[in-house]
Amino acid sequence: MNLKTEWLSAARTEDIQRAADLLKNGGLVGLPTETVYGLAANALDGGVVKKIFLAKGRPQDNPLIVHVASVEQVAPLVQVFPAGAQALAKAYWPGPLTIILPKADCIPLETSAGLPTVAVRFPAHPAAQAVIRACGLPLAAPSGNLSGRPSPTTAQHMWHDMQGRIDAVLDGGPCEVGVESTVVTLAGERPRLLRPGGITLEQLQAVLGPVDVDEAVLNRLPEGETAASPGMKYKHYAPNARVIIIKGTSGQYAAYVNSHAAPGVAALCYKEEEPMLQVPCISYGGQGDDRALAHELFRALRAFDDDTGVKLVYARCPEPTGLGMAVYNRLIRAAGFEVLQL
Ligand code: AMP
Ligand code: MG
Repeated sequence: MNLKTEWLSAARTEDIQRAADLLKNGGLVGLPTETVYGLAANALDGGVVKKIFLAKGRPQDNPLIVHVASVEQVAPLVQVFPAGAQALAKAYWPGPLTIILPKADCIPLETSAGLPTVAVRFPAHPAAQAVIRACGLPLAAPSGNLSGRPSPTTAQHMWHDMQGRIDAVLDGGPCEVGVESTVVTLAGERPRLLRPGGITLEQLQAVLGPVDVDEAVLNRLPEGETAASPGMKYKHYAPNARVIIIKGTSGQYAAYVNSHAAPGVAALCYKEEEPMLQVPCISYGGQGDDRALAHELFRALRAFDDDTGVKLVYARCPEPTGLGMAVYNRLIRAAGFEVLQL
Protein backbone atom coordinates (compact mmCIF):
# COMPACT_ATOMS: atom_id res chain seq x y z
CA MET A 1 0.00 0.00 0.00
CA ASN A 2 1.44 3.34 -0.97
CA LEU A 3 -1.31 5.92 -1.38
CA LYS A 4 -0.71 9.63 -1.29
CA THR A 5 -2.68 10.52 1.84
CA GLU A 6 -4.20 14.02 1.93
CA TRP A 7 -4.26 16.10 5.12
CA LEU A 8 -7.62 17.88 5.34
CA SER A 9 -8.95 20.35 7.91
CA ALA A 10 -12.49 20.16 9.32
CA ALA A 11 -12.41 23.96 9.64
CA ARG A 12 -12.52 24.31 5.82
CA THR A 13 -15.82 23.71 4.01
CA GLU A 14 -14.00 22.61 0.84
CA ASP A 15 -12.09 19.99 2.83
CA ILE A 16 -15.33 18.55 4.23
CA GLN A 17 -16.58 18.33 0.64
CA ARG A 18 -13.29 16.75 -0.47
CA ALA A 19 -13.63 14.07 2.24
CA ALA A 20 -17.22 13.41 1.12
CA ASP A 21 -16.18 13.16 -2.55
CA LEU A 22 -13.41 10.69 -1.73
CA LEU A 23 -15.92 8.56 0.21
CA LYS A 24 -18.48 8.68 -2.61
CA ASN A 25 -15.77 7.41 -4.95
CA GLY A 26 -14.92 4.42 -2.79
CA GLY A 27 -12.09 6.03 -0.82
CA LEU A 28 -10.96 5.58 2.79
CA VAL A 29 -10.94 8.68 5.01
CA GLY A 30 -9.84 9.21 8.63
CA LEU A 31 -12.69 11.01 10.37
CA PRO A 32 -12.81 12.77 13.73
CA THR A 33 -15.59 11.70 16.09
CA GLU A 34 -16.16 12.56 19.75
CA THR A 35 -14.93 9.08 20.79
CA VAL A 36 -11.80 8.34 18.70
CA TYR A 37 -10.80 8.88 15.05
CA GLY A 38 -12.51 6.43 12.71
CA LEU A 39 -11.39 4.91 9.40
CA ALA A 40 -14.44 5.57 7.25
CA ALA A 41 -15.73 4.10 4.00
CA ASN A 42 -19.09 3.51 2.29
CA ALA A 43 -20.81 0.95 4.54
CA LEU A 44 -23.04 -0.27 1.69
CA ASP A 45 -20.21 -1.36 -0.63
CA GLY A 46 -18.64 -4.66 0.43
CA GLY A 47 -15.67 -4.26 -1.91
CA VAL A 48 -14.81 -0.88 -0.42
CA VAL A 49 -15.30 -2.13 3.14
CA LYS A 50 -12.77 -4.89 2.46
CA LYS A 51 -10.15 -2.15 1.99
CA ILE A 52 -10.72 -1.02 5.61
CA PHE A 53 -9.71 -4.45 6.89
CA LEU A 54 -6.61 -4.42 4.67
CA ALA A 55 -5.54 -0.91 5.71
CA LYS A 56 -5.89 -1.72 9.42
CA GLY A 57 -4.71 -5.31 9.31
CA ARG A 58 -8.01 -6.05 11.08
CA PRO A 59 -9.16 -9.67 11.56
CA GLN A 60 -11.93 -10.43 9.04
CA ASP A 61 -14.35 -11.61 11.72
CA ASN A 62 -14.48 -8.26 13.54
CA PRO A 63 -17.57 -6.30 12.37
CA LEU A 64 -17.67 -2.54 11.78
CA ILE A 65 -19.86 0.20 13.23
CA VAL A 66 -22.05 2.04 10.70
CA HIS A 67 -22.25 5.80 11.28
CA VAL A 68 -25.27 7.92 10.37
CA ALA A 69 -26.11 11.61 10.69
CA SER A 70 -29.78 11.32 11.70
CA VAL A 71 -32.08 8.85 13.46
CA GLU A 72 -34.11 8.53 10.24
CA GLN A 73 -31.06 7.19 8.41
CA VAL A 74 -31.16 4.04 10.59
CA ALA A 75 -34.49 2.58 9.39
CA PRO A 76 -33.28 1.33 5.96
CA LEU A 77 -30.23 -0.34 7.57
CA VAL A 78 -32.14 -2.56 10.03
CA GLN A 79 -35.00 -5.06 9.99
CA VAL A 80 -36.62 -3.56 13.07
CA PHE A 81 -36.00 -0.42 15.11
CA PRO A 82 -37.59 -1.47 18.42
CA ALA A 83 -38.95 0.89 21.10
CA GLY A 84 -35.89 0.33 23.33
CA ALA A 85 -33.54 1.39 20.55
CA GLN A 86 -35.63 4.44 19.79
CA ALA A 87 -35.63 5.42 23.46
CA LEU A 88 -31.83 5.07 23.57
CA ALA A 89 -31.48 7.12 20.41
CA LYS A 90 -33.70 9.83 21.88
CA ALA A 91 -31.74 9.92 25.13
CA TYR A 92 -28.13 9.60 23.91
CA TRP A 93 -27.87 10.37 20.19
CA PRO A 94 -25.98 12.04 18.78
CA GLY A 95 -23.37 10.60 21.11
CA PRO A 96 -20.94 7.82 22.06
CA LEU A 97 -23.45 4.95 21.91
CA THR A 98 -23.60 2.11 19.35
CA ILE A 99 -26.76 0.00 19.09
CA ILE A 100 -26.79 -3.48 17.52
CA LEU A 101 -29.94 -4.55 15.67
CA PRO A 102 -30.88 -7.21 13.09
CA LYS A 103 -29.45 -6.02 9.77
CA ALA A 104 -31.29 -5.25 6.56
CA ASP A 105 -30.13 -6.86 3.30
CA CYS A 106 -28.44 -3.63 2.12
CA ILE A 107 -25.70 -4.13 4.75
CA PRO A 108 -23.05 -6.29 3.08
CA LEU A 109 -21.60 -9.24 4.96
CA GLU A 110 -18.17 -7.54 4.83
CA THR A 111 -19.55 -4.76 7.07
CA SER A 112 -21.21 -7.11 9.56
CA ALA A 113 -18.35 -9.63 9.28
CA GLY A 114 -20.87 -12.31 8.38
CA LEU A 115 -23.19 -11.63 11.35
CA PRO A 116 -26.96 -11.20 10.87
CA THR A 117 -26.78 -7.94 12.86
CA VAL A 118 -25.47 -4.42 12.29
CA ALA A 119 -23.99 -1.88 14.70
CA VAL A 120 -25.24 1.70 14.22
CA ARG A 121 -24.19 5.01 15.75
CA PHE A 122 -25.03 8.69 15.28
CA PRO A 123 -21.84 10.52 16.31
CA ALA A 124 -21.93 13.96 17.93
CA HIS A 125 -18.81 15.42 16.30
CA PRO A 126 -19.95 18.19 13.91
CA ALA A 127 -17.28 17.28 11.31
CA ALA A 128 -18.36 13.62 11.24
CA GLN A 129 -21.97 14.70 10.82
CA ALA A 130 -21.04 17.19 8.07
CA VAL A 131 -19.13 14.56 6.07
CA ILE A 132 -21.89 11.94 6.39
CA ARG A 133 -24.47 14.50 5.25
CA ALA A 134 -22.30 15.73 2.39
CA CYS A 135 -21.71 12.25 0.96
CA GLY A 136 -25.23 11.02 1.72
CA LEU A 137 -23.95 7.57 2.75
CA PRO A 138 -23.88 5.56 5.96
CA LEU A 139 -20.17 5.17 6.80
CA ALA A 140 -18.55 2.04 8.19
CA ALA A 141 -15.81 3.27 10.49
CA PRO A 142 -13.77 1.22 12.95
CA SER A 143 -11.17 2.99 15.06
CA GLY A 144 -8.45 4.38 12.81
CA ASN A 145 -5.46 2.61 14.38
CA LEU A 146 -3.47 -0.26 12.97
CA SER A 147 -5.14 -3.34 14.42
CA GLY A 148 -4.00 -4.03 17.99
CA ARG A 149 -2.56 -0.52 18.56
CA PRO A 150 -4.12 2.10 20.85
CA SER A 151 -6.97 3.94 19.11
CA PRO A 152 -6.14 7.38 17.66
CA THR A 153 -7.48 10.38 19.58
CA THR A 154 -5.83 13.01 17.38
CA ALA A 155 -5.44 13.40 13.62
CA GLN A 156 -1.68 13.11 14.14
CA HIS A 157 -2.10 9.65 15.72
CA MET A 158 -4.19 8.58 12.78
CA TRP A 159 -1.65 9.97 10.31
CA HIS A 160 1.10 8.08 12.10
CA ASP A 161 -0.68 4.73 11.69
CA MET A 162 -2.41 5.21 8.33
CA GLN A 163 -0.34 7.59 6.19
CA GLY A 164 0.20 5.88 2.83
CA ARG A 165 -2.62 3.38 3.49
CA ILE A 166 -5.69 5.61 3.10
CA ASP A 167 -6.82 8.53 0.94
CA ALA A 168 -7.11 11.30 3.53
CA VAL A 169 -7.19 12.26 7.20
CA LEU A 170 -9.61 15.00 8.25
CA ASP A 171 -8.24 16.93 11.22
CA GLY A 172 -11.05 17.89 13.61
CA GLY A 173 -8.92 18.36 16.73
CA PRO A 174 -8.49 16.02 19.71
CA CYS A 175 -11.42 13.70 20.55
CA GLU A 176 -13.54 14.76 23.49
CA VAL A 177 -14.32 11.36 25.06
CA GLY A 178 -11.08 9.57 24.16
CA VAL A 179 -12.33 5.96 24.31
CA GLU A 180 -14.56 4.19 21.78
CA SER A 181 -18.36 4.15 21.94
CA THR A 182 -20.44 2.03 24.28
CA VAL A 183 -21.80 -1.00 22.36
CA VAL A 184 -25.16 -2.44 23.43
CA THR A 185 -27.03 -5.16 21.59
CA LEU A 186 -30.81 -5.14 21.35
CA ALA A 187 -30.80 -8.06 18.91
CA GLY A 188 -31.10 -10.69 21.65
CA GLU A 189 -33.73 -11.47 24.27
CA ARG A 190 -32.41 -8.95 26.78
CA PRO A 191 -30.29 -5.83 26.28
CA ARG A 192 -26.62 -6.68 26.73
CA LEU A 193 -23.62 -4.40 27.12
CA LEU A 194 -20.84 -5.66 24.84
CA ARG A 195 -18.35 -2.81 25.24
CA PRO A 196 -18.37 -0.01 27.84
CA GLY A 197 -17.73 3.53 26.60
CA GLY A 198 -18.79 7.14 26.94
CA ILE A 199 -22.39 6.22 27.82
CA THR A 200 -22.25 4.32 31.11
CA LEU A 201 -24.04 1.10 32.11
CA GLU A 202 -26.01 3.18 34.60
CA GLN A 203 -27.17 5.49 31.78
CA LEU A 204 -28.30 2.48 29.71
CA GLN A 205 -30.19 1.04 32.68
CA ALA A 206 -31.93 4.38 33.27
CA VAL A 207 -33.58 4.02 29.84
CA LEU A 208 -33.84 0.23 29.36
CA GLY A 209 -34.19 -1.20 32.87
CA PRO A 210 -32.06 -4.32 33.40
CA VAL A 211 -29.05 -4.65 31.08
CA ASP A 212 -26.82 -7.75 31.08
CA VAL A 213 -23.08 -7.21 31.02
CA ASP A 214 -21.27 -9.50 28.63
CA GLU A 215 -18.68 -11.75 30.26
CA ALA A 216 -15.94 -10.37 27.97
CA VAL A 217 -16.37 -6.77 29.23
CA LEU A 218 -14.38 -7.34 32.42
CA ASN A 219 -12.85 -10.79 31.99
CA ARG A 220 -10.59 -12.72 29.70
CA LEU A 221 -12.69 -15.06 27.60
CA PRO A 222 -11.92 -18.75 28.15
CA GLU A 223 -9.95 -20.28 25.26
CA GLY A 224 -12.24 -21.32 22.40
CA GLU A 225 -15.34 -19.40 23.57
CA THR A 226 -17.14 -17.30 20.92
CA ALA A 227 -17.21 -13.58 21.69
CA ALA A 228 -20.60 -11.85 21.33
CA SER A 229 -18.60 -8.81 20.25
CA PRO A 230 -15.68 -10.18 18.23
CA GLY A 231 -13.53 -7.11 18.97
CA MET A 232 -13.41 -8.04 22.66
CA LYS A 233 -11.45 -11.25 22.26
CA TYR A 234 -8.15 -9.86 21.00
CA LYS A 235 -5.24 -8.45 22.93
CA HIS A 236 -5.85 -4.88 22.03
CA TYR A 237 -4.99 -1.24 22.58
CA ALA A 238 -1.52 -2.28 23.61
CA PRO A 239 1.73 -0.30 23.44
CA ASN A 240 4.89 -2.20 22.52
CA ALA A 241 5.96 -2.47 26.15
CA ARG A 242 4.55 -5.07 28.54
CA VAL A 243 1.89 -3.49 30.78
CA ILE A 244 1.07 -4.70 34.31
CA ILE A 245 -1.82 -3.18 36.28
CA ILE A 246 -0.95 -2.54 39.93
CA LYS A 247 -3.74 -2.44 42.54
CA GLY A 248 -3.22 -0.96 46.00
CA THR A 249 -2.81 2.44 47.65
CA SER A 250 -0.66 5.16 46.07
CA GLY A 251 1.94 4.57 48.77
CA GLN A 252 2.09 0.83 48.05
CA TYR A 253 2.26 1.49 44.31
CA ALA A 254 5.11 3.99 44.62
CA ALA A 255 7.06 1.69 46.95
CA TYR A 256 6.64 -1.26 44.58
CA VAL A 257 7.58 0.67 41.45
CA ASN A 258 10.57 2.37 43.08
CA SER A 259 11.91 -0.93 44.37
CA HIS A 260 11.64 -2.34 40.81
CA ALA A 261 13.23 0.70 39.13
CA ALA A 262 15.53 -0.38 36.30
CA PRO A 263 16.36 0.73 32.75
CA GLY A 264 13.26 0.22 30.59
CA VAL A 265 10.81 0.40 33.52
CA ALA A 266 8.18 3.18 33.41
CA ALA A 267 4.88 4.08 35.06
CA LEU A 268 1.38 5.03 33.88
CA CYS A 269 0.17 6.76 37.02
CA TYR A 270 -2.35 9.12 38.55
CA LYS A 271 -1.36 12.80 38.52
CA GLU A 272 -0.80 13.01 42.27
CA GLU A 273 1.55 9.99 42.20
CA GLU A 274 4.04 11.58 39.78
CA PRO A 275 6.22 13.20 42.47
CA MET A 276 6.41 9.89 44.38
CA LEU A 277 7.90 7.87 41.52
CA GLN A 278 11.57 7.36 40.69
CA VAL A 279 11.05 5.95 37.18
CA PRO A 280 9.99 7.78 33.98
CA CYS A 281 6.24 8.27 34.29
CA ILE A 282 3.25 9.50 32.33
CA SER A 283 0.21 10.56 34.33
CA TYR A 284 -3.19 10.37 32.68
CA GLY A 285 -5.45 12.17 35.16
CA GLY A 286 -6.21 12.44 38.83
CA GLN A 287 -7.38 9.38 40.78
CA GLY A 288 -11.19 9.26 40.52
CA ASP A 289 -11.29 11.70 37.59
CA ASP A 290 -12.59 9.10 35.14
CA ARG A 291 -13.42 11.70 32.49
CA ALA A 292 -9.78 12.81 32.34
CA LEU A 293 -8.50 9.21 32.49
CA ALA A 294 -10.68 8.22 29.51
CA HIS A 295 -9.63 11.33 27.62
CA GLU A 296 -5.90 10.75 28.12
CA LEU A 297 -5.57 6.93 28.16
CA PHE A 298 -4.74 6.26 24.51
CA ARG A 299 -2.50 9.32 24.20
CA ALA A 300 -0.54 8.05 27.19
CA LEU A 301 -0.29 4.47 25.87
CA ARG A 302 0.97 5.80 22.53
CA ALA A 303 3.51 8.03 24.24
CA PHE A 304 5.22 4.96 25.72
CA ASP A 305 5.83 3.76 22.15
CA ASP A 306 7.64 7.02 21.31
CA ASP A 307 10.38 5.98 23.71
CA THR A 308 11.59 2.66 22.34
CA GLY A 309 13.60 2.06 25.50
CA VAL A 310 10.44 1.42 27.55
CA LYS A 311 9.98 -2.33 28.06
CA LEU A 312 7.70 -2.56 31.10
CA VAL A 313 4.94 -0.20 32.30
CA TYR A 314 3.44 -0.42 35.79
CA ALA A 315 -0.05 1.03 35.35
CA ARG A 316 -2.80 2.39 37.58
CA CYS A 317 -6.37 1.55 36.64
CA PRO A 318 -9.74 2.86 37.95
CA GLU A 319 -12.51 0.65 39.35
CA PRO A 320 -14.93 -0.65 36.69
CA THR A 321 -17.88 1.61 37.54
CA GLY A 322 -19.32 4.58 35.63
CA LEU A 323 -16.95 5.81 32.93
CA GLY A 324 -14.19 3.96 34.80
CA MET A 325 -15.59 0.73 33.34
CA ALA A 326 -14.56 1.86 29.84
CA VAL A 327 -11.04 2.75 31.00
CA TYR A 328 -10.73 -0.56 32.88
CA ASN A 329 -11.95 -2.53 29.85
CA ARG A 330 -9.28 -0.97 27.56
CA LEU A 331 -6.40 -1.01 30.02
CA ILE A 332 -6.96 -4.62 31.12
CA ARG A 333 -6.63 -5.63 27.44
CA ALA A 334 -3.57 -3.44 26.93
CA ALA A 335 -2.15 -5.37 29.91
CA GLY A 336 -3.16 -8.74 28.48
CA PHE A 337 -5.08 -9.17 31.80
CA GLU A 338 -1.91 -9.02 33.94
CA VAL A 339 -2.89 -7.57 37.33
CA LEU A 340 -0.88 -7.45 40.53
CA GLN A 341 -2.73 -6.81 43.83
CA LEU A 342 -0.37 -5.38 46.46
P1 AMP B 1 -14.11 -0.43 16.56
O1 AMP B 1 -15.02 0.29 15.65
O2 AMP B 1 -12.78 -0.78 16.01
O3 AMP B 1 -14.00 0.33 17.82
O4 AMP B 1 -14.81 -1.81 16.87
C1 AMP B 1 -16.21 -1.97 16.81
C2 AMP B 1 -16.67 -2.83 17.94
O5 AMP B 1 -18.06 -3.10 17.79
C3 AMP B 1 -15.95 -4.16 17.98
O6 AMP B 1 -15.72 -4.52 19.32
C4 AMP B 1 -16.95 -5.08 17.29
O7 AMP B 1 -16.76 -6.41 17.67
C5 AMP B 1 -18.27 -4.50 17.77
N1 AMP B 1 -19.36 -4.80 16.82
C6 AMP B 1 -19.60 -4.21 15.64
N2 AMP B 1 -20.66 -4.76 15.02
C7 AMP B 1 -21.12 -5.75 15.83
C8 AMP B 1 -22.17 -6.71 15.75
N3 AMP B 1 -22.98 -6.76 14.68
N4 AMP B 1 -22.31 -7.57 16.78
C9 AMP B 1 -21.48 -7.52 17.85
N5 AMP B 1 -20.46 -6.64 17.97
C10 AMP B 1 -20.27 -5.76 16.99
MG1 MG C 1 -10.93 -0.55 17.40
